[in-house]
Amino acid sequence: MPLEKMFVSDARDAAHVGKTVLIQGWIRTRRDSKGGFSFLEINDGSCMGNIQVIADADLANYKDEIQRLSAGCSVAIEGEVKASEGKQATEIQASQVTVLGWADDFPLQKKRHSFEKLREWAHIRARSNTFGAVARVRNQICQSIHQFFHENNFLYVHTPIITASDCEGAGEMFKVTTLDLDRLAMSGGPVNYEFDFFDKPSFLTVSGQLEAETYATALGRVYTFGPTFRAENSNTSRHLSEFWMIEPEAAFFDLADDMALAESFLRKILSDVLNHCDEDLQFFDQRIQKGLIESLRKVAETPFQHMTYTDAIKVLENCGESFEFPIAWGTDLQAEHERYLTEKHVAGPLILTDYPSTIKPFYMRLSDDRKTVAAMDVLVPGVGEIIGGSQREERLDVLTQRMAEMDLREEDYWWYLDLRRYGTVPHAGFGLGLERLVQYTTGMANIRDVIPFPRTPGNAEF
Ligand code: ATP
Ligand code: MN
Repeated sequence: MPLEKMFVSDARDAAHVGKTVLIQGWIRTRRDSKGGFSFLEINDGSCMGNIQVIADADLANYKDEIQRLSAGCSVAIEGEVKASEGKQATEIQASQVTVLGWADDFPLQKKRHSFEKLREWAHIRARSNTFGAVARVRNQICQSIHQFFHENNFLYVHTPIITASDCEGAGEMFKVTTLDLDRLAMSGGPVNYEFDFFDKPSFLTVSGQLEAETYATALGRVYTFGPTFRAENSNTSRHLSEFWMIEPEAAFFDLADDMALAESFLRKILSDVLNHCDEDLQFFDQRIQKGLIESLRKVAETPFQHMTYTDAIKVLENCGESFEFPIAWGTDLQAEHERYLTEKHVAGPLILTDYPSTIKPFYMRLSDDRKTVAAMDVLVPGVGEIIGGSQREERLDVLTQRMAEMDLREEDYWWYLDLRRYGTVPHAGFGLGLERLVQYTTGMANIRDVIPFPRTPGNAEF
């Protein structure tokens, strides 16, 4: 009878003592004891910790193979789970060690490598403790996202990745084309998009919001969760050219409903990670950001603070801090301003509301003062903006006027305007960057280290 395959996470559990099992994974370390046996530390990615395997010298391949094992080798171990006398609960006494793959000159040796160096080895960095932990936390967050929306009656909809509409009206999109750029360059003439694949200029989406609104105004509550692209040349620790965005959109929601949704959403994610990723969080707490667990717990329990943009400007003007970018009513907040507000001023998550209409997209609902829109950004310590959302403009006349002010052509948005022509309703939503959320929950300083294969200006290797 074939042996029961077991994950390392289960083999480390004392409940399995006495079972004979098959473990498959990669060697982290090998230590030879003078007593004539070796300790192998095996990791299979199922958890942060390794299982210790004891391989006795009387195993047939002890001299030829086991004593040559090094970090990175893949192995299959058959043996019995035993209670351990060491600090771990269990260990495995091997009856057979099969080498599946050798790993001469494996780059991830004991010595610690910088995260910059590990980005060059993105194909093997997942085998390190840090990147394994990031992957598990990221997975937990994604599971929780779907669960949260499912429990709150939000329908998961898929919005297109290729689109002809620019959600922000702000450009900075990647163009999608099958035109032969080399030949075009040689011809020197203007581009005729009628010969292009989609008969018109087409792009990778910067947001699924506009399309999500069409489903929200039919099905009530929906969300999208997919890849999003920004062709902006920002080399910062919180911008990627390709990232994953979660965008709920709900009919009959106003700004207050939207903020309440964002807050309960973030709280649910954090408490799930705290409950299910303890070992990984302990690691981040010890190695990456001291006090992480405590601060996540606090955020999961305390109500978020609220402040208007106008009040935030007053705080920033009077705080005595010297910022690189000057601040005045009507300017967009920079990361340094956002971080001052959330880290120093309130020391916790902060929801900023009622931004000037001039710095926000056309679809945000104009307030009665005619100067601000019903927008909200959620700021968190260490990251700054994590969520951007708003109540949407549901009044056709106001919407078309704002589009005119921003030089957007109505014919490009005919279907979006139809939503206001046929049974328009108040509605609201927000966009949350998955990677910023993973950064926040792990304490990882650079967004390039919380997505498996980061795309940034100049980097598309792997
Ligand atoms: P920022 O001002 O930080 O550049 P934004 O205002 O352009 O962000 P939105 O268009 O409001 O961002 O997008 C919604 C959310 O998507 C943001 O709150 C953020 O979490 C995430 N996000 C936006 N741009 C990026 C990016 N380039 N890389 C990773 N996440 C991003
Ligand atoms: Mn934003």
